[in-house]
Amino acid sequence: MTVIAIDGPAGSGKSTLARGLARALGFLLLDTGAMYRALALAAQRAGIDPNDADALTQLAQQAAIQLVAQGDATRVLLNGEDVSEAIRTPEISELASRVSVHSGVRRVMVQQQRAIAAQAYGVVAEGRDTTTVVFPEAAVKIYLNASPQERARRRQQQLQQQGIDAPYEVILQQILERDARDAARAESPLRPAPDAIILQNDGWSKEQTLEHALQLCRERLGVPE
Ligand code: C5P
Repeated sequence: MTVIAIDGPAGSGKSTLARGLARALGFLLLDTGAMYRALALAAQRAGIDPNDADALTQLAQQAAIQLVAQGDATRVLLNGEDVSEAIRTPEISELASRVSVHSGVRRVMVQQQRAIAAQAYGVVAEGRDTTTVVFPEAAVKIYLNASPQERARRRQQQLQQQGIDAPYEVILQQILERDARDAARAESPLRPAPDAIILQNDGWSKEQTLEHALQLCRERLGVPE
């Protein structure tokens, strides 16, 4: 099994890059954030307090979270139900960053992530701890970053495309808060692995980011162009 691991903050373009790499290389896409989001949704539905580590750990053990490839997209199933859209709300983003601070929850999720990867020929994993904790032996490790201002601009554009007008300052504040929470937590904080390649993609298009990363992967994996 070959693993390409990509970490980075919200809005850095990790998901788009991971999808592009998985497609180009014919690898499975492992979106670990989607798994934490599905757990957050399950917790919300069950009325579990995001601070209740024991109840959340138990929930993580019981909930069946599956990532199912469907053409170019990956559907997220929670106990068999397609929750791909339901997990993409700002409320679930927020809740995911709260339920994911607990070590018990992370232990269960990491186990599941490794089990998913073990079944595949090649995996592109993306999240906050895939290069540091889940797959420290990954063949390629990328830390994708962009300034908070650039990430807020991208998010604002994305929302505009969905017909939602949100003030830039509010978006920037949310991004800074989520970054702070992901980086400050005791358990698997967001940080680049010592041997990760850092790509700072301010001002790069999605295509440029993909081209850069693909080049790196081909070099490391010895794949001809
Ligand atoms: O990447 P995404 O925005 O979908 O992740 C949602 C939240 O899940 C993140 O803000 C982070 O708190 C958490 N997460 C995590 N570890 C991962 C992936 C996501 O803690 N590997």
